[in-house]
Amino acid sequence: MKLITFRGKIWVCIKNHGLLLNSKQRNAYFRELLIFCFNMRFKPGGKRYKDYPTFFRTLFDERVQKLSIDGGFTCPNRDGSKGVGGCTFCNNESFNPDYCRAVQGISGQIEEGIRFFSRKYKGQRYLAYFQAYSNTYAPLEVLKQRYEEALSHPMISGLVIGTRPDVVNEEVLDYLEELAKRYYVCVEYGVESVNDEILRRVNRGHDFAVAERAIRATAGRGITIGAHLIFGLPGESRESMLEGAVRLCELPIHVLKLHQLQIVKGTRMAEQYVNNPALFQLYTLEEYLDFVVKVIERVRPEVYLERFVNQSPAEYLIAPQWGIKNHEFTAKLDKRLEELDTWQGKER
Ligand code: SF4
Repeated sequence: MKLITFRGKIWVCIKNHGLLLNSKQRNAYFRELLIFCFNMRFKPGGKRYKDYPTFFRTLFDERVQKLSIDGGFTCPNRDGSKGVGGCTFCNNESFNPDYCRAVQGISGQIEEGIRFFSRKYKGQRYLAYFQAYSNTYAPLEVLKQRYEEALSHPMISGLVIGTRPDVVNEEVLDYLEELAKRYYVCVEYGVESVNDEILRRVNRGHDFAVAERAIRATAGRGITIGAHLIFGLPGESRESMLEGAVRLCELPIHVLKLHQLQIVKGTRMAEQYVNNPALFQLYTLEEYLDFVVKVIERVRPEVYLERFVNQSPAEYLIAPQWGIKNHEFTAKLDKRLEELDTWQGKER
């Protein structure tokens, strides 16, 4: 499905790829088409990009909430097998919610998370989001035990597994492919930049070719593929970030997750920032908004965009101090796209 312009209007173009769809796939396809048309053409203020809630509505009959889980994994960029000290921007404490602590065990965190979210929303399903550290970095038997403990909870409908692209292999992917026949399974790769020199500077411990190989090895297995980029790493220009987002979206990913660089306490980057702030060109909120519009205009229109900003807790965040939540940024973005009469993939 693609957006095209003709006589100044946006049209939805459906391409027949010659696939024979079974009835379940056909229903999902037409449901997606209906939601898409509704959003794009008939709903005032509808989204001008493929938004994440719509993605979930095409897959599930009810609201779905990701529950962050600390699965007790570590990271090869910290334990010495790939590197030590970790990526210069990383402090896992800054994005772990309070209910999410490995000491509570996986089932305990799920119970706690459900208690937390059920106060806000009634009647929903949950996905166990293995977020902290590298969640495929363990022997297969350990992965199976931890993932399957989460999936054994009656309210959990699937897994979202955040990981580094250099810690997946055929054996793990074969296992996830089997799981994906019964549950929703998403692997979310931390790519962060497509520029090898930038990856080296932030001590990432792998290059972009590794990410590309992992994404291609995951494709075609019924696993949803997410990819994560950070905008504003030191040394990266706007042009290279824009080209990087376009290049990443040309790979067979389903979901792109973006956020601005945040300098958080307890990281090597925080020390660099204090010692040499000129190294960093942090965005103002308005500059970042304009940049995200450009990214949306250029990236492949089939990719769902999960988020655009992150907000570390105030006690960790050094800069930039925007004081804006994801949904507030999204509202500003929607307004800007409307004003500019532009949309995802318009400038491809
Ligand atoms: S960002 Fe991920 S890969 Fe880098 S140090 Fe942190 S946990 Fe490890």
